[in-house]
Amino acid sequence: MNDLQGFPFRSGRLCLDFSATLGGRRRDALVERLGSAEDVRRWLRASGLWSHSALVSDHHAEAARGLREAIYRLVHPKRKPSVADVGTVNRWAGLPPLAPKLASDRTARWDGSVEAALSTIARDAIELVTGPLARRVRECARPDCSLLFVDASRPGRRRWCSMERCGNRSKTAAYRRRVGR
Ligand SMILES: [Zn+2]
Repeated sequence: MNDLQGFPFRSGRLCLDFSATLGGRRRDALVERLGSAEDVRRWLRASGLWSHSALVSDHHAEAARGLREAIYRLVHPKRKPSVADVGTVNRWAGLPPLAPKLASDRTARWDGSVEAALSTIARDAIELVTGPLARRVRECARPDCSLLFVDASRPGRRRWCSMERCGNRSKTAAYRRRVGR
């Protein structure tokens, strides 16, 4: 769970990392990380879903942003997806997903189009909200972070998307407030 190429990969879940490509959601200072086709290609590569045969267009970037926002409202613990959001997720999930392609050295990579990658992401979102971890989706407690993550800890009290990036910073800030520095 590390950030790669400037994209957050902290959630432990593909569809949540995808929703994190729009940052600053709680500050009204949105950070769009999928603004272009090249951004989408970079994110897919960083996520491990990149297929070398896939061509990414501006149309794909727009579609990716649309799916991302539908997924965000679907998985967010305090939001409700609209009928249109559910339709968007279903439409993408209904397409054939990426297929694993095995090499003789027993490694595999994903193969397929950008549409197939978006299908894989949409399917992950459906699995998440209909599965046992649905109630474990949390929003990071640091006020200027808005990332969602899956709390897989046994007690279920994880508060930060990343202890290093948000937990320690928040604790340091609280300490400074207490000691008046
Ligand atoms: Zn955070």
